[in-house]
Order: sequence, then structure tokens, then C-alpha cells
Amino acid sequence: MTNISEIQQQIKNTSARQVVESAIKLAKEKSEYNALLNLTEDRALLRADKIDAGLIGGKLAGVPFVVKDNFLAFGAPTTAASKMLENFDAPLQATAVEKLEAEGAICIGKANLDAFAHGGSTENSAFGPTKNAIDQTRVAGGSSGGSAVVTALDVVPFALGTDTGGSIRQPASFNGVVGVKPTYGTVSRYGVVAMASSTDTIGVLADCVTDAELVMSIMSGKDERDMTTLPDFFALQDKANPKQRIGLIKDFMANGVDPEVRQAINDYADRLRADGHTVELVDLPMVEYALAIYYIIVPAEISSNLARYDGIRYGHRAAGVKTLAELYGQTRDQGFETENKRRIMIGSYVLSSGFFDAYYLQAQKARTLLVNEFNQLFEKYDALIGPVAPTTAFRLGENITDPVRMYLNDIMTVPASLVGLPAISVPAGVSDAGLPIGVQLIGPRRSDAALLSLVRSLENKQ
Ligand code: GLN
Repeated sequence: MTNISEIQQQIKNTSARQVVESAIKLAKEKSEYNALLNLTEDRALLRADKIDAGLIGGKLAGVPFVVKDNFLAFGAPTTAASKMLENFDAPLQATAVEKLEAEGAICIGKANLDAFAHGGSTENSAFGPTKNAIDQTRVAGGSSGGSAVVTALDVVPFALGTDTGGSIRQPASFNGVVGVKPTYGTVSRYGVVAMASSTDTIGVLADCVTDAELVMSIMSGKDERDMTTLPDFFALQDKANPKQRIGLIKDFMANGVDPEVRQAINDYADRLRADGHTVELVDLPMVEYALAIYYIIVPAEISSNLARYDGIRYGHRAAGVKTLAELYGQTRDQGFETENKRRIMIGSYVLSSGFFDAYYLQAQKARTLLVNEFNQLFEKYDALIGPVAPTTAFRLGENITDPVRMYLNDIMTVPASLVGLPAISVPAGVSDAGLPIGVQLIGPRRSDAALLSLVRSLENKQ
């Protein structure tokens, strides 16, 4: 794995242009993975030349990275892996991308995802699935599958992703890289295609924790253009608190969880103990309802956020229609994937006047109970751990025809999303078949930096 400091050394020894050129070359050689939808080659090389000429500098001067293709970024269309936005050229860049560029980082391409980030395998992309970095017969995970795979294949040291219900953590786990989903509101979502506004977060997939920390510290902070951003709180911690109280979520270790996954988590718990922390089993009974809550609230927000794609303002417009209703209907039929449509229908249903109380309102109440359970645990514990997903990467096609089975894979990632908590996925082992297994650490709101320093303290002792 090549991390940021190694890349920086390479830039010193050669040039930013050479480093960017070799990243682009590697990206092309690995095209069979279908991890990238478009390269931003011309713009990347232009920026590299400016860095070599001393016109741009910064903490990440010349370091190549990739963005998930739901970030508005220059140099190639922003498709959200959908036919709806297939030819959409961004008029501006996402704040997160702007901040990285201000530090000299160079975006070399746009990564594949489930269309509009709806999914957990990157099989819902309008442009074909991404293959797992370790086993090409398996899924990359999702929805930030492309970002995870380019990082795991060492095309770039880090890639940006979005996590609404697990889309950074689960692909990170499936491909053996670090994935950070921050506290809700840590990074501005301005210029990122909206999925579910009450749980959408921006984060990073990286080779190592130190790189993830650096990137998060650059991207985080208040942004006037996103009113949900928190005032700056993200201050990196040199050293982790040496004696932490950690809860291992029992409800995440039940039957149905792959024994190899359970073993890897127990091993990680032992490593924490060996390092001086206490780890004990804790209950989070509301987990039983987490998927039901998530798959009511999130589709409700999706149906609302996707209403803007009407064929009038931007994006795809159906041809040869006679009436406005036909224009709306056919544009949306052609532009959305099956999973997008499924969520629009579920969302519209749970928000309809006859069912609003029974579903949406009830789900919001249950969400509050989940918030309370986490709050109670954080009175006693500094952090919680458990698996990221019940299994390692599943086979391509294995779950795609059964949406409920696909949703079940999200059981351990959606709770932190519904509550807005920071959650990190770090490599914790491999299965007998050689597939990566991630461990998830969840902390109280704004404990992002503390969580990262805790996992860094263990990473260095591997
Ligand atoms: N797999 C989850 C879903 O399908 C999470 C998606 C996400 O975080 N973008 O909703």
C-alpha cells in the first residue's frame, strides 16, 4: 500500500506530473474492475504542472485522489452513476473537493457507485458493477464501491465517499481499507448529490488511519452553504486516551453473523484489552428495529430529494413526448434505475396522508428510542465496537434480485447513521478465503478525532 507520505516522497524525487501520470496509467490498467466511470486526466495534468511550477502548494501538493461520482467536480461529468445525470457537467465543485484542491490535491477520476448511492454493492450503477479488489467474482460493496476499490488497488492513497447508511464503511470492510463516516455535519455536503438529508455524510476511504485523519481534518468545518455543518470541532489528537471503556455490541454478534467475522471482532477486542482498554459486552436492543426505521425514513427523504429530476431543469429529458405528464413520467422512467424507483415508491407511500402516521411518524419515534439507547451507552463507554457487516463480500449477483436480502447486509451500519454518530471501519483480519473483514468503531457525537487516534494506536502495533 502506498500512503500519502510515500507519494510525497515520490513527488520530491520525480515530479507531480510523473506521479499523476503513473496513477492514471494504473487506473487504465485496472479498468476491468470498472471502479472509475471517468478520468479527469487533462485537468489533473494541468494541475500537476502548476504544482511542479510552484504555482500551487499545500499539505497535499500533487497527491492524486479520486471522488465518488456523486461529488460535483470539474474535469468530467457528475453522473451519480445514473442515466439521469449521464451528461451533467457540474457548474461548481463540492466544498470538500475545493478544500482538498486548496491544499494542492489532484483529483484524477470519478468513482463508480450505486446510482444515486442507493445500494450496498455498486451493482445498481447504470454503468455496470464494480468488482471487488481482492476477488473479482465478488461485489465491491457499496455504494462507494469504486472509491474503495481504487484505494485498495493502490491507484490512489485515498478516495472520497458518502455514507448515508454504511456506504463508506461497508465497501471499506469488503476491500480491506480504512473508511471514515464522521459525525453528521462534520463535512459540508454542498455540491454533493443528495440522497437522504438527515443521514447523508461525507467521508474518506484511505490506505491507513493517518491519511484518513489528514484528509478529514482538511475537509471538515463550518460552511455557510450547508446550514447543517457543525462549527469546527475536528482537532486531531496525537495520542489516544490509554485506558478507554469499550462496549462490544452483543446484538451485532448474534447468529446469522459469519463465524469468521465474529472471530475477527473478538480478536480485535482482545487487542484492545492487551493495549490496556476494557472491553465488555453491551446490549443495544433497538438494533432489531434499525433496518425498519432506516428503510422508512431514508426512502421518504429520497422520494423528496429526487423530485427535482423532472426533465425541465437539468439532467436527462425524454424525447418525443406530447404532454407535461408524459415528460415527467418518461424522463424519470428512463433516468432512474430499478432501485431508485423502488425507493421513490416506498417513500411516497410512507409519506402519503393515509399512512404517514403509521409509518413515517412511527419510524421517527422509534429513531428517538435508538438515539436514547446510544446516549445511555455513551454515559458508560467511550466507544462501541462490532462488525461492519454480517458477512465478507458476497458474490456478484447473489443478492441483487432480492432487495430485502440486500438491505439485511446494512443492519450494523444504519444505526450510527440514524443517530448521526461517527463510525469508522478498519481492517481487522481476513477470512480463510482471503477476503477482508473490517471492525466498526462507533463513538459519541464529535468524538471523531478520538476514535481515529484510538484505531491509529492499534494500527501501529499490528
Ligand atoms: N446500503 C445502504 C442503502 O442502500 C446505504 C447506502 C448509503 O450509505 N449511501 O441505503
